Amino acid sequence: MVKKSLCGLTAEEIFSLIGPSGFTFSHAVSISNSIYKKSTGEISQITKIPKKLKEELASNTYSGIFMPVASEVSVDKTVKYLFRTETGKEFETVFIPDNKRNTVCVSTQSGCRMGCQFCVTARYGFRGNLSAGEIINQIISIPNAGKVTHVVFMGMGEPLDNLENVLKACEIITAGWGLAISPRNVTVSTVGITHGVEKFLQSSDCNLTLSLHSPFIEDRKRVVPAEKQYPVQKIIEIMKNYPVKKKRRLSVAYIMIKDLNDTDNHLEGLKTLLKDSMIRVNLLPYHPIGNDPNSSSSAERMKFFKHNLVVSGISASVRRSRGIDISAACGLLAKDLLIEKCIHRDNRRMS
Ligand code: SF4
Repeated sequence: MVKKSLCGLTAEEIFSLIGPSGFTFSHAVSISNSIYKKSTGEISQITKIPKKLKEELASNTYSGIFMPVASEVSVDKTVKYLFRTETGKEFETVFIPDNKRNTVCVSTQSGCRMGCQFCVTARYGFRGNLSAGEIINQIISIPNAGKVTHVVFMGMGEPLDNLENVLKACEIITAGWGLAISPRNVTVSTVGITHGVEKFLQSSDCNLTLSLHSPFIEDRKRVVPAEKQYPVQKIIEIMKNYPVKKKRRLSVAYIMIKDLNDTDNHLEGLKTLLKDSMIRVNLLPYHPIGNDPNSSSSAERMKFFKHNLVVSGISASVRRSRGIDISAACGLLAKDLLIEKCIHRDNRRMS
């Protein structure tokens, strides 16, 4: 019999496993509390359940918690972790400490198939979806698990291309029997897959960020190929029309590239696109990769954009990058995996 991973199950799913043997929903909650809040890796160490239940669990389940295989620490104390599943899928996770706010940036896929121009993960290719348990494990298995206050789905992969597992992971992160993190502190980032955006907004209370990068269709198609299939105008319309619950945050991410998308024309286009909406703008610096001749907009230009957006009634902020020296910043994940792949390939050539 194939054993089931407890990490990745809801309390209801755990109850459906143990209920037929006479155990209660409270027992299921004790199990999920041990797994998600205390990162209990051994079934024998799960607390507040009878010995008989531990024996039953041990015969048909396992905790599903697995440790990262490597880690790297940035000068700014950001930590990047590499995970490898039993089937060989690799993905990276970033822990970002910032005073009282500790954020984990999780991956939802090994690689990605969206092909965004500025992103290293796109060059790594697509190796597969991560299960809800593999997504949650990135939060509960790291050394600072107990200190995590915020979760962002901005690591490797397009979350809405793995929607069911992402929705389940959001449920586990925010549930009282799960990690009990407020949905206000959980943000899912997407290039904008129309039906996925609709379903996500209906099914979850977590925040949503759209990777915009240009208000103009032809421009955006060049950097975000998903624009060809899922026009951003439609996505913005859905976001604008969605009755936003108090404090739920809908935003767009705008990576600023000098002379490419930071002109006055782009600023005006951005203002027009987001007019009469509650959508916020997060302005991010650009990190060129390889031989890319482009560079980030200057700090002054980013402030100018922010100021003009705010003056016209659109909330905006300039975000700083973290973990650049360890390739943990936005768009850089999988860089080390690619380098490793090249080393392996070169070694094979030499042997
Ligand atoms: S930016 Fe996100 S969606 Fe685009 S290729 Fe990279 S990981 Fe995929």
